[in-house]
Amino acid sequence: MPRRYVIVGNGPAGVTAAETIRRNDAAGDIRIVGGEDVGFYSRPGLAYMLTGAIPEERLFSRPESTYERASVQRTVGTVRTIEPRGHRLELAGGEVLRYDRLLLAVGARAVRPEIPGIDLEGVVTLDNLEDARRILRLARRAKRACVVGGGITAIELAEGLVAHGVETHYLMRGDRYWGSVLDPHESALVEERLAEDRIRIQRGVELAGVIGRDGRVSAIKTRDGAVIRCDILAVAIGTQPRLELAQGAGLETGRGIWTDATFQTSDPDIFAAGDAAEVLDPATGERAVDSLWSVSMEQGRVAGEYLSGVGQPYRRPAPFNVTKIGGVTTTLIGAVGTGGRDGDLVTLARGDSHAWREQLDAFAVVSDTSANHLRLVLGDDRIMGAVVMGDQALSRPLQHLIRERVDIRWVRDRLFRGPVEVHHALRALMDRVASPGTV
Ligand SMILES: Cc1cc2nc3c(=O)[nH]c(=O)nc-3n(C[C@H](O)[C@H](O)[C@H](O)COP(=O)(O)OP(=O)(O)OC[C@H]3O[C@@H](n4cnc5c(N)ncnc54)[C@H](O)[C@@H]3O)c2cc1C
Repeated sequence: MPRRYVIVGNGPAGVTAAETIRRNDAAGDIRIVGGEDVGFYSRPGLAYMLTGAIPEERLFSRPESTYERASVQRTVGTVRTIEPRGHRLELAGGEVLRYDRLLLAVGARAVRPEIPGIDLEGVVTLDNLEDARRILRLARRAKRACVVGGGITAIELAEGLVAHGVETHYLMRGDRYWGSVLDPHESALVEERLAEDRIRIQRGVELAGVIGRDGRVSAIKTRDGAVIRCDILAVAIGTQPRLELAQGAGLETGRGIWTDATFQTSDPDIFAAGDAAEVLDPATGERAVDSLWSVSMEQGRVAGEYLSGVGQPYRRPAPFNVTKIGGVTTTLIGAVGTGGRDGDLVTLARGDSHAWREQLDAFAVVSDTSANHLRLVLGDDRIMGAVVMGDQALSRPLQHLIRERVDIRWVRDRLFRGPVEVHHALRALMDRVASPGTV
């Protein structure tokens, strides 16, 4: 009998796992169940769809035939329950599927604050394509919007709304943008760009409630009693791994679904990967949740290996994200946290990693020109993290130097001698990596 694999979740973790399983098991019966009635698409790309930079079709980087070619069956539907003893799961419509091995790649959802009026029409979050379509529909009729939250998604929502002519107010609880990850100069750089884009920033504002008329948002109320009129309230205060299925099946969970470094959960036949998983890192003995596209793919790949045979245990990579924040191309790599506070996020945001908040016993070296900015976080013998804003020539080399923990002791002094010398020292490091033995 061919082995029956069921994957719940049609995102990067689920799809990469399916492809990996197929490579290892030509005869296996692979089925992906996904709650959305569309094929595989880029979630980070939703931000570009919102601003109108790309049409919806561009989100779909793989044709529908991808599933067929890999002989992966696709079911559109929502899994309601898992019965681990019987190796069965049930869909919302009553359909029952049986599995030998199950992967939960169900992702995370946006957190909504528990305040009056939060369910009114016009309160939006951005998790998926349907949300992006809804926001675009609302933006067509809206005059004014308020955005609350932090991280990359809050900015993406603000940029998306202002691009459609909606007067957009970005309300920050704290005094600067993404204070736990960016340093004050980096926050200021983003805020300046937002202001240039006509996004109105208000600091020290805390959302207390949403006021409605005829079931729709008409204003918000702040903690200090002010009322701000708006037709849309966009919320991006963080994400929460989807845990209901795992908890219903009696699996161990914390912030996410607990797995070991092979992505096995507390049930030997059930695995979890991607944004939903909280993975044990054997190197540190700690569990971590990430919300990164590339990390989800890598986790899906390793999980797929173990679902269909034996692989190499997961090694948590230095988290990497290249994105536009307020129009500034920004790359974040490894440990870059400033130890600052971020009053705008209650938990991890999209495109975000806990590793970015780890404050290390390390030096920061900053190199700047007016348009570009580079911050390196240095340990004694290696680069622990980097923020690259503007010119991206160094972002790939830095990713390599950080991921491979390249020894920097022989150039470390030069990294403190100003922008020109920093660039030369990094180039010298890369040259040495490319041709070891030469200095
Ligand atoms: C607006 C936005 C911007 C982002 N920007 C970045 C970025 O700049 N850089 C970056 O690295 N990452 C970014 N991300 C995060 C990245 O998209 C996620 O880390 C990644 O998609 C997680 O992959 P996943 O496979 O774990 O889950 P997801 O991609 O979330 O997919 C989960 C799937 O499971 C399905 N599902 C859930 N429950 C069920 C159920 N019970 N039954 C059936 N199906 C179910 C869902 O419908 C969904 O299709 C962004 C995400 C968003 C939404």
